[in-house]
Amino acid sequence: MRVTSLGSGSSGNALLVEAGPRGRTRILVDAGLSSRILIERLQQAGTHPKQLQGVLVTHEHIDHVIGLPVLMKRYGIPAISAPATLAALQHSFASGIWPVDTGALVTTAAIAPLLTKLDSSENEEVSLPGVDPNIALPEVSPESGMLLHGEGKPVVPTIAMQPGSRRLIGDIEVVSFPVSHDAVAPSGYLITAGGCRICIAIDSGEVTPTMLEAMHHADLLILESNHDRERLIRGPYPYALKQRILGPTGHLSNDQAADAVLQTWRADSVRWLWLSHLSRTNNTPKIALQSMIRRLEKAGANLAQIHVSVSPPGMGHVWDSAQLWHEPSLWEMQH
Ligand SMILES: [Zn+2]
Ligand SMILES: [Zn+2]
Repeated sequence: MRVTSLGSGSSGNALLVEAGPRGRTRILVDAGLSSRILIERLQQAGTHPKQLQGVLVTHEHIDHVIGLPVLMKRYGIPAISAPATLAALQHSFASGIWPVDTGALVTTAAIAPLLTKLDSSENEEVSLPGVDPNIALPEVSPESGMLLHGEGKPVVPTIAMQPGSRRLIGDIEVVSFPVSHDAVAPSGYLITAGGCRICIAIDSGEVTPTMLEAMHHADLLILESNHDRERLIRGPYPYALKQRILGPTGHLSNDQAADAVLQTWRADSVRWLWLSHLSRTNNTPKIALQSMIRRLEKAGANLAQIHVSVSPPGMGHVWDSAQLWHEPSLWEMQH
């Protein structure tokens, strides 16, 4: 299994997961980058959008879904998520009103200049064969979760996945679990392929026992480490927004992330940890990293076997499960 971070943080989130022979099964977890940047980063990772089997959506906030309509309507890629999240997306598609991570609502018209700016700062127009940009965006049936076109005829299936359920997508097994965030049905995902597991737990105000259980099984844990609590409290955000972020359905602090890791860590295992969804205002990569390392050291963890890094806002890390079998310290342990 190979995992590539295409973007992380309030400016947009997307992960590419590839598994099976020659990476024949490819999915995204979230599509929160403008479609043009998303497609360019996919291409940098060696993937054409048409090769995607689906997009697992954690929740309906715009920093997780802004690239989704183009993937669905141009390429017929299904969105996979909780039924309530699919219904919320349908509402945003139809109304042009999108919820933001700050709790505010924005219109497509309001964000269009930003997206255009982001897009024009990139290279030449990406030309993709066989793409018809004039296809009308179909609607989603609330009953069946199918995208509808014209007179109720399904064209692009969405895949409803109840929180806590399990589903096979090609070579990948996905288990969803609820997280605690101010969205209609926020979900984390435990993804298994080829005997390896990754756990994605971002956008959550607290770490629940269910989340801990999912994290416990991960070889690669992609965990929110949104803010430094003191920096947030003393920082420029309005009082109400600070309360929202600090609340049980807001975002995880560096300390909360460390608490979670220390509760799930298996001392004898090799693990990778990507600290993700960092706030640009209330955190820095250095603070997040130092905070986690300090807590791990204090707890007596073997840092030679724990690979901690920060997911950047731009094109980020690539994790290949082959590392699990070639980890030198693991090799030494076997002899
Ligand atoms: Zn969110
Ligand atoms: Zn978010």
